[in-house]
Amino acid sequence: MSQQSTRVVLVAPRKFEVAERVLPSPREGEALVRIAATAVCHTDLDIYTGGPKNLRYPIVLGHESTGVVAALGSQTPRLQPGQPVIINPVITCGHCDCCLRGHEHLCRNAGLFGREIEGSLSRYVLIPTRYLYPLPHAMPLDEATLLETLATVRHAQVRANLQAGEAVVVFGQGATGLLHTRLAVLSGCHPVIAVSRSRWKLERAAAMGAHEVVAAGVEDALPEVARLTHGLGADVVIDTAGGAHTLKAGIDMLRPGGRFCSFSLSHEPVSGVSAFPLYFKEVSIIGSRALTSADIEAAIEIAAGGAIDVSGFVSATYPLLDAAAAFEEYERNPNAYLRIVIDSRAD
Ligand SMILES: [Zn+2]
Ligand SMILES: [Zn+2]
Repeated sequence: MSQQSTRVVLVAPRKFEVAERVLPSPREGEALVRIAATAVCHTDLDIYTGGPKNLRYPIVLGHESTGVVAALGSQTPRLQPGQPVIINPVITCGHCDCCLRGHEHLCRNAGLFGREIEGSLSRYVLIPTRYLYPLPHAMPLDEATLLETLATVRHAQVRANLQAGEAVVVFGQGATGLLHTRLAVLSGCHPVIAVSRSRWKLERAAAMGAHEVVAAGVEDALPEVARLTHGLGADVVIDTAGGAHTLKAGIDMLRPGGRFCSFSLSHEPVSGVSAFPLYFKEVSIIGSRALTSADIEAAIEIAAGGAIDVSGFVSATYPLLDAAAAFEEYERNPNAYLRIVIDSRAD
């Protein structure tokens, strides 16, 4: 095995450099993973453009990542060299009150693989084995990057406690919206109503099993949602569109007792929203952050069983050394792709 590894480093907003390094050997409890694929999402775009405060450069991006175990620092029954894996990117301390309560995704000292620690825009990464989850050998590793996203979607739906027979509206039908639509259908929700302005995304939503599609912006979808729910309103609205305007539109669509699940967030202040519906309609607003190990395990199981087909979600693939071009294109056309994948195996 070569002990040289190439990685692509973000040294400033919108500025990548290719760097070589000598690979360290895995120590006890660590694995060296040969990275296969990294999907790029809005979180990466936000970091790439320098959006979040407190970013510390250089950053090696990449947190929706799959690969193959190349070497282990110590024996573990879960993993052997050659095992395909997906990475849990939520890096936790293990000793704060949240970690000790089993809410590791809320860790007070949490970091993201691909932001606070080096991510997968690299040929190899060194990572503790507890962040690695075995994937079925038959699963293509570029598509399997979507299982990280599916795990976050599953986390939100567990939080929102979706029940069979409930009317569910999903705002936005990008990768996360489509996975929400599919998972709600699998939970027996009915009708599952997909809302998007994009016709091609609604066609995909229908292919994912959406019972109804509404071709409209979030704020204009209310009359159609009311009609499709016989004037009663939705039990649950899941927001993957994430603008400041979506909270009010979503609450307006809920039946009394309904739940608004805020999956994608905007940093913009929300104006024009009154807390009164929390009393009068007794609606709940549910937040959801990241994922847990149970969510990753469930996502792998769902996809391995064939209930969710993520083939076709990878809209474009770039070799590792062209990562800069991938990000430039994604920034130009963020809504034109379900997922752009960066291939660390390609030359
Ligand atoms: Zn992501
Ligand atoms: Zn912690």
